[in-house]
Amino acid sequence: MRGEPQNRPPGPAPRRCRRRLAGLLAAAMLLAFVAVDPEACFDPPAPRIEVSARARRLHEAAIVIDLHADSMLWRRDLRQQARHGHVDFPRLRAGGIDAQAIALASMWVIGLNAAHNLWPPATWWSPWARVSYQMDRLEAMVRAEPGVRLARTAAEVRRNAAAGVISLFHGVEGAHALPDGDLERLAELAQRGVLYVAPVHMADNAYGGHGGGDPARGLTPLGRRLLERMNELGLLLDTAHAGSRTLQDAVALTAFPPINSHTGLKAVHEHWRNLSDDDVRAIAARGGVIGIMFGGMALAEPNVDEVLAHMEHAIRLVGDEHVALGSDWDGWIRPAVDAAGLPQLTEAMLRRGWSEERIRRILGENVLRVWSERDRRLAERQGGPPQAPAR
Ligand SMILES: [Zn+2]
Repeated sequence: MRGEPQNRPPGPAPRRCRRRLAGLLAAAMLLAFVAVDPEACFDPPAPRIEVSARARRLHEAAIVIDLHADSMLWRRDLRQQARHGHVDFPRLRAGGIDAQAIALASMWVIGLNAAHNLWPPATWWSPWARVSYQMDRLEAMVRAEPGVRLARTAAEVRRNAAAGVISLFHGVEGAHALPDGDLERLAELAQRGVLYVAPVHMADNAYGGHGGGDPARGLTPLGRRLLERMNELGLLLDTAHAGSRTLQDAVALTAFPPINSHTGLKAVHEHWRNLSDDDVRAIAARGGVIGIMFGGMALAEPNVDEVLAHMEHAIRLVGDEHVALGSDWDGWIRPAVDAAGLPQLTEAMLRRGWSEERIRRILGENVLRVWSERDRRLAERQGGPPQAPAR
């Protein structure tokens, strides 16, 4: 009889059996990963601070810009208010946010951006396909939502804000997204609403070193060519995730004021992903801005006091013209506030006795200063700032 133990050749059957078991186990794990939505673990933080009428007025009148959200990593349709996560169009509106950066991460981020969300197979092996897919998805959501637009200039952000329209723009997390180091793809990014590009993300790459990598690794020759092409196209440098040497090299090369879209400060919370005082000074010396995160590794505790402690240290070092919001919402973190809860931060700033002028700068005017400086200098050259394609 087939399958009788005494007829089976010794050895291979248990191996075959183990292989089958391992295959089954892997399939079950993949199924569980796809079926169980990790987003349910990221409930929005409950409101903790009562927002006064004065803070509400100030917040509403101010232009509010956040420099980093990873909302494209998740399955959500941003047109719907979700129970989980931190950003969607209704919550941006509720939180008085006028412009939100939507990051384009193209490393496999805990498998979320491809495996879990069942992105098309083309995105599984190609970082560039992952970036393109995220831009396509966001454009489709924006087309279907009249109160939200992609903005390419600072003037557009102001115009949109005056009309009650939310502006979105992109930042690229890691130039490894460019296939085979093809710098000509940067033109497409600029045209599709990317304002800044970070040379590195969570690993050293062909362009430079990241904060947790080899500290001796600076900007590579390809990294220098990247900066030159970004300068030509008017793409701002984002030093987020860069190691100190790469950051210093890149800040010296950029033609525009640099941005650090999301970070904390080492002096307040010693962590490899945070900026040293020298890094803060280098960014400020070039007229740049530093977006302070609302949670994650950058902070010891995800609360409003800690966010303000990082901001206060930067203000002591370089003044309040160089501080901005860099929440890192939806970036696998538990933040102090979600998009709808942002007025609590304005309330906390007022309670610290900060002037309304300082608060307006940090909420958005500092970013607009950098952005309009970029626009002005591009306009001086032939062609002007990147134009929006016909909608
Ligand atoms: Zn990041």
